[in-house]
Amino acid sequence: MKRHIALLGSTGSMGTQALQVIDQFPDLFEVELLSACSNCDLLIQQALKYKPNTVVIIDEQHYEKVKHALAKEDCKVFAGLQSLTDCMSMNSIDIALSCIVGIAGLAPVYAAIENEIPVALANKETLVVAGELMIQKAKEKSVPIIPVDSEHSAIFQCLIGEHDNSVEKIILTASGGPFRGKTVEELAKVTCEQALKHPNWNMGNKITIDSATLMNKGLEVIEAKWLFNMSLDKIEVIVHPQSIIHSLVQFTDGSVKAQLGLPDMKLPIQYALTFPRRLPSEFPRFSFADYPTFTFEKPDFETFPCLSLAYYASKEGGNKPCVMNAANEIAVAKFLNGEIKFMDIPKIIEKALTDIHFSQPKTINEYLETDKATRIILNSLQGNAE
Ligand code: MN
Repeated sequence: MKRHIALLGSTGSMGTQALQVIDQFPDLFEVELLSACSNCDLLIQQALKYKPNTVVIIDEQHYEKVKHALAKEDCKVFAGLQSLTDCMSMNSIDIALSCIVGIAGLAPVYAAIENEIPVALANKETLVVAGELMIQKAKEKSVPIIPVDSEHSAIFQCLIGEHDNSVEKIILTASGGPFRGKTVEELAKVTCEQALKHPNWNMGNKITIDSATLMNKGLEVIEAKWLFNMSLDKIEVIVHPQSIIHSLVQFTDGSVKAQLGLPDMKLPIQYALTFPRRLPSEFPRFSFADYPTFTFEKPDFETFPCLSLAYYASKEGGNKPCVMNAANEIAVAKFLNGEIKFMDIPKIIEKALTDIHFSQPKTINEYLETDKATRIILNSLQGNAE
């Protein structure tokens, strides 16, 4: 019996790595659905290779091109985010792997959970924005959410076999990004090219900038809070520049468990798809002899204010993490576009968190409206945050 996978966001960095994992197990997996935002050429190539039942192009202007290219295939083609969300009611999907970047993943992932489809989640923004609703619905429907984010996969693996043993704290490791050790003055001058050079991980542009600002770790703190039902004061961040220890769990007896491996996202992707089994892989092996030194340091909350902003937003709750996430997505896009400087990113987020008042969204649509409103407010401001 093959497992039928819906791969949401198949053309990005995570999506393409997921297909490489799937390639290794032709007897185990079948691609049931592929979706992409706008990279229609790669989506068409993938569809011709993997022969999914359904293909969804989110950006509707590419619909005709995709439809035409796949006309001879036995494959349904749809366009738009709503179509992707509707497709999550397909009975033929055994697991949804969400590699979508940002808030766009919210509605389809929620729909998958509502339809009792197990979710492998690489899309952290989904839990950052609406973690409470997502986790509640997953509980109600008894749907597993298996983390794909390397740190959360590490924690998930450390918790296997621990049953009700209580956790004292979770320790999320951070590489520190390309600007670790830099001063605020130095950061004021960094370029986009520098920010896109991550020392250890090969990832998409959005998450690479998030790693440089440490917002990625902030988003992951919130993700961990929901996934593992932990209060914020029990989630610690430690900078570990080698990125070999992917995260740790400390139990009430003081014992600490860690998961280690070379920084390669294919490993957590494979684990999420084959869980609870571990299958042989060809990934390069980690060797202690190649890493004689592991180092650790406290994160610099003052130079990298995004991490503090994430703790703040999560503590406030309600719409605040959603506002923070929208402001971050806007700020990162502007930075990638050369419109603002690196240190304007936290300023824009802080301004949004101050200016937009607290509210408590109660449905996925209310979160999406909050997100939209935040973007409208921020886009109406000129270039920088002052
Ligand atoms: Mn991560």
